[in-house]
Amino acid sequence: MLQISMVPGCLCGQIRREGPLGLSVSARGRREGARCPECRRRSTVVHGYYDRRPLDLPVVGRQVRLDLRIRRYACRNPDCPRQTFGEQLPTLIAPSAQRTNRLVKAQARIGIALGGSAGSRLAKQIAMPASGDTILRLVRRMPEPVMPAPTVIGVDDWAMKKRLRYGTIVVDLERHRPIDLLPDRTSETVSDWLGSRNGIEIVARDRSTEYRRGITTGAPNAVQVADRWHLLHNTRQMVERWTASAHSRLCRLPSLQNAETSGKGRTKAFPRTRSDTTNTIENRERRKVQYEDIRRRYLAGEKLKALSRSTGLARATVRKFALAENFP
Ligand SMILES: [Zn+2]
Repeated sequence: MLQISMVPGCLCGQIRREGPLGLSVSARGRREGARCPECRRRSTVVHGYYDRRPLDLPVVGRQVRLDLRIRRYACRNPDCPRQTFGEQLPTLIAPSAQRTNRLVKAQARIGIALGGSAGSRLAKQIAMPASGDTILRLVRRMPEPVMPAPTVIGVDDWAMKKRLRYGTIVVDLERHRPIDLLPDRTSETVSDWLGSRNGIEIVARDRSTEYRRGITTGAPNAVQVADRWHLLHNTRQMVERWTASAHSRLCRLPSLQNAETSGKGRTKAFPRTRSDTTNTIENRERRKVQYEDIRRRYLAGEKLKALSRSTGLARATVRKFALAENFP
């Protein structure tokens, strides 16, 4: 018959109810004798006992607390400074811990999946209650997973506080996982990070000159490629700028109404309400005044950045107005 040890490394005794929803399981170490942690000499002389009451994994939906009877051994080595020592149960529980290793693992995994508060709510429902802070503490204590050294990485801006503070995120593009966050986005920081690692073969980046310099210095043998997102993003920006500046010329192109494709589908916008129409006209008038002001000042030699700051408009809007030959 298959026998499963309910408590690893221990012999179990009585199981009792503890409160309306709990159980307590009494247990003691299976092995007789232990090594002194100071002199490593083995002792089987029991000096006394003490109790530990750690929490364990739930059973049949009930919270479980172990009643562990721990032996205290006497060290018989006359040269050893330690006279007694408690037995350790490393497969079950860490020294001085309040919960068993397997409960720590389960609660930490809940924390990784859900975070502190939500993890705490779930843990309470499945009879292994812990506060959100405790769950986060257990997550932080977990050993970091060992990852193979990356060879293909991507670097990009990462906003610690949008528009104010930016760092650099480094992503392992083969495993699709972020592997580091750097405190800023200067070429020196990127160069130092790359210089401390071997085997980087390809680095994907945006078209920033800072990153280009950092990668060239830190990983001179790595191939630098522009990532797809930035290629599409820059293409869209260029098309948008060009169409805004050529808006009036595009408007003068022959109408498609007489073409063969006309007549199919809707050619006019849905009718607007009176208030919509008024709002649209007012907005358009207001934007036209802004456009004329920006266009005049831009042609007089003011910089886009200064125009954006003095008008309070977004840099992209200012650029669109400044470059457009007619009101877009
Ligand atoms: Zn000793």
